[in-house]
Amino acid sequence: MAEPSFFAAGDLVAVLTGEPLGRTLDYRAPEGGCHAGAFVEVPLGPRRVLGVVWGPGEGGFDPARIRAVGRVLDAAPMGEAMRQFLVRAADYTLTPLPAMLRLATRAPGLADPPGPRRVYRRGQVAPDRATEARARVMAVLDDYGGAAFTLSELAGLAGVTTSVVKGLAKQGALSEEEAPRDLPYPRLEAGQPGKALTEEQEAAAASLRAAVAGGSYGTTLLKGVTGSGKTEVYLEAVAECLARGRQALVLLPEIALTADFLARVEDRFGARPGEWHSGVTQTERRRLWRMAGEGGVGLVVGARSALFLPFRDLGLIVVDEEHDTSYKQEDGVLYNARDMAVLRASLCDAQVVLASATPCLETWVNAEAGKYRRLDLGARFGAADLPEMRAVDMRAEALEPGRWIGPTLAAAVAARIGRGEQALLFLNRRGYAPVTICRACGHQIGCAHCDARMVEHRFLGRLVCHQCGDSQPMPAACPSCKAEGRLAPVGPGVERLAEEVAARFPAARVAVLSSDLFASARALKDKITDIARGGADIIIGTQLVAKGHNFPALTLVGVIDADLGLQGSDLRAAERTFQLMRQVAGRAGRAERKGEALLQTFQPEHPVMRAILSGDEDGFWRAEAAARQAAGMPPYGRLAGIILSSPDVQAVFDFGAELARRAQPLRRIGAEVFGPAPAPVARVRGRHRVRLLVKGPKGAALQGALAEWLAQLRPPASLRLAVDIDPQSFY
Ligand code: ADP
Ligand code: ZN
Repeated sequence: MAEPSFFAAGDLVAVLTGEPLGRTLDYRAPEGGCHAGAFVEVPLGPRRVLGVVWGPGEGGFDPARIRAVGRVLDAAPMGEAMRQFLVRAADYTLTPLPAMLRLATRAPGLADPPGPRRVYRRGQVAPDRATEARARVMAVLDDYGGAAFTLSELAGLAGVTTSVVKGLAKQGALSEEEAPRDLPYPRLEAGQPGKALTEEQEAAAASLRAAVAGGSYGTTLLKGVTGSGKTEVYLEAVAECLARGRQALVLLPEIALTADFLARVEDRFGARPGEWHSGVTQTERRRLWRMAGEGGVGLVVGARSALFLPFRDLGLIVVDEEHDTSYKQEDGVLYNARDMAVLRASLCDAQVVLASATPCLETWVNAEAGKYRRLDLGARFGAADLPEMRAVDMRAEALEPGRWIGPTLAAAVAARIGRGEQALLFLNRRGYAPVTICRACGHQIGCAHCDARMVEHRFLGRLVCHQCGDSQPMPAACPSCKAEGRLAPVGPGVERLAEEVAARFPAARVAVLSSDLFASARALKDKITDIARGGADIIIGTQLVAKGHNFPALTLVGVIDADLGLQGSDLRAAERTFQLMRQVAGRAGRAERKGEALLQTFQPEHPVMRAILSGDEDGFWRAEAAARQAAGMPPYGRLAGIILSSPDVQAVFDFGAELARRAQPLRRIGAEVFGPAPAPVARVRGRHRVRLLVKGPKGAALQGALAEWLAQLRPPASLRLAVDIDPQSFY
């Protein structure tokens, strides 16, 4: 049944708001009428709230009491495909629809009245009096280049009062201007030729172009080692999409990667795309959100939440590094942007390209089954070959206590930097040391609010909890036995590794890349650019460096502890280690020089380690797939995690046990419930955490059964319940 697309003044319309009401509300269309999908402001009790006209009113309320829509906002109505997407995404993730709508309306100033807004940018003169507050404002301006900010945003980012900003404007250190109406983005020249592609690249590009030209839904796995030209190839699909007047979205897992990507787009298409991530100013976010809806932006590059922009006509979604765990949002609405990209595309006749050197098992299986098409890029572009990978058997290495770089790796580093090449040492542990122990009493310093050890960050001079972020100064005495001067670090973090490197290679320039060492995304970007230009000899990094950065002079990758990811009982431990090791190794030898990767391991005979070294990738995936199939685990079965948390430990276990007892709706579809069991991290921010795991057969109607199951019980007020469909982490 086709729904009306326009409602005349006085018609009953159903409006969906972001309020947790569990249903739409009826209003009367305002004077002048409104379109289906229109963004509106409606009265709700004494307040006015933002909403979207969802369809015809449902009726059944006292007609005399139905109020009129307050006003229609100055934004393009949300298209029907987008509305459907939100409904389906809400159903899939068992998220209330209003919460889904809130994800899709994160546009600052959406409800602002039309008309100019005042914005601030850097002015002509330096501040006359340099107070600390003023310096912070100027630092924010530096961080964002030439960006403009509204008063409240600038004050907020700098952590100062608005009067500081106004004071700076008054003396000319800031210029104050009326921002024009949000302008469309410059057009990308889709017709410009790209780089001359190799035969293999051209075949892949032609296939993607044809798919986009077909104008219907489809998903393609674009698989190729880092450096094989995947980006070059999918930019051809972008060109085709733009040439057809449709919009394209490229999702990247890491803000720091966008700088490189933006430059490439500008090279290729003569202008920059719209950018959507946490490092973009509110003024730009507002503009992009609007332009997505109006069709005033052709290409958007962004983080996972860009998937919820109200594109007017989305024809292509690229998910680059599709295996990356950051595509899974782990708080608030729990969704996987990769899977939601496929859903969204299927509803708006768009193509999806999943690009990766190491796709996740789900994607690999979908490609094997023919649900996704698969395009392979075999060789690296140009002379560069995949690095040679070797295990260093740590059982045979003489290692002094407190050191982590074995003689074999140390010699390799010395040789590389001696030739003016770069070496990367990979250790996926932030901070100085993961454990701080008292040598007098054996006490290990833990977080007061979480079931986790405090991690020493010597750079900050503090102990930090990686679960809740709480921190404290490094104490002088043991908190337990009060002995002074007996606290000692145990195990390495990147900061401690940096000390070892400085001691072993005193002449080398060392750069540590760890997210916590940089004050802003821009500072990190600058550092990465500097390293790429040769600004460091030895790079020490966490998994931050595994993600697609291009360091041409880098020829050696040393993995300090290749066994790290294999510990623990995570379903995906093998898969993750395999991906991470290959990604990291792929950093070496991206330009002409041949690279080498050394993996320090105590178990070189471990099947995962052997698969990594042998390079028999499909063999690894087949074995991993067979193991999952035998266990009925994803993607051959379905999982859902239920995470309960409460300050009251008894309440959380009791509720979990009660849920487990009432599992009839789940059994009906052949699913089982495991638990309740204390979560691996059993307490976070003072809340006790308990998990249940639901495991069902593939193809079962899991969401419906889960909803029915959970509806039987009302959690006590202090208890939080989160449902994690297709969980990726089990902490
Ligand atoms: P991937 O995305 O697979 O890691 P890229 O597309 O980033 O690979 O390509 C790696 C490098 O090789 C980039 O610097 C890219 O510009 C270059 N490159 C790839 N293909 C070509 C080509 N056909 N002509 C010129 N340069 C290319
Ligand atoms: Zn904590």
